[in-house]
Amino acid sequence: MIRRTANPLAARLATSLPPTRAIYARLACSALVLLSGIASAAPKLYVLDCGLLNFEDISRFSVANDETDVRQMFVPCYLIEHEEGRLLWDSGLPIEFAGEGIVDRRPGVWLRYDVSIVDQLSSLGLTPADIDYLALSHLHFDHAGGANAFVTSTLLIQQAEYEAAFQRPGEVSGYEPALFSALESAERVLLNGDQDVFSDGTVRIIATPGHTPGHQALFVDLEKTGPVLLSGDLYHFEENRAWRRVPTFNFDAEQTLASMDKVERLLEETAATLWIEHNLELANGLRKAPEFYD
Ligand SMILES: [Zn+2]
Repeated sequence: MIRRTANPLAARLATSLPPTRAIYARLACSALVLLSGIASAAPKLYVLDCGLLNFEDISRFSVANDETDVRQMFVPCYLIEHEEGRLLWDSGLPIEFAGEGIVDRRPGVWLRYDVSIVDQLSSLGLTPADIDYLALSHLHFDHAGGANAFVTSTLLIQQAEYEAAFQRPGEVSGYEPALFSALESAERVLLNGDQDVFSDGTVRIIATPGHTPGHQALFVDLEKTGPVLLSGDLYHFEENRAWRRVPTFNFDAEQTLASMDKVERLLEETAATLWIEHNLELANGLRKAPEFYD
């Protein structure tokens, strides 16, 4: 596996490393290039089950309770393996709930999280130290719940999300700083818009603010499967998409609608398949790790 060879993110990191570390990193990369030989450029996408949420009342998502029977949300994590590194996209429910059975989150909301993201990675032969990049669609508890385990990964985060979640968490609904406080000391790249993670167009962060100030989605161009767009919480239910309904607790409704337009245009241009991350019915039909999409 080649890691962190020439791409803009790696270059930005290299310039921030002390000279000896930077030289070591370049030597390590060269050795890995030689060892890896015929590594494929095409990414692989693993879907991991990082929990389940159950709501008695879904009206805060701006879908009326009589408009759908759906009351449960899948909580995913996704591992993307690229020849230049591994990216974890979203980190699931808080790890402390893993293996605890049904947990009452608050009145009318329960959750369940069977196997922690760390243990699932371990089943794939990986530890958090093997994850080069951590990117979260946003820092709400069902996406940032495993974040503190990935302090050695480089955090790819919109500057607006970083400032809101780390510097003034009380001003935006839904952040729980204890879940990601360890990342304060992690290497990070602050983004201001879209970002082509490995500089080959296959893995692209798409800025989609609105749900939170720096919400983002992820475009992954898979060779056999075709392009897939991971929604983050741009949409929660299919009804949010069909009727352009913005949850009542979103940070900015106008921004959300503009992000919906941006994503729908991208889906049209690229013929990508949209995976609404919380769609349980969709998730039930997806292959889970150790199987993958390529
Ligand atoms: Zn969510």
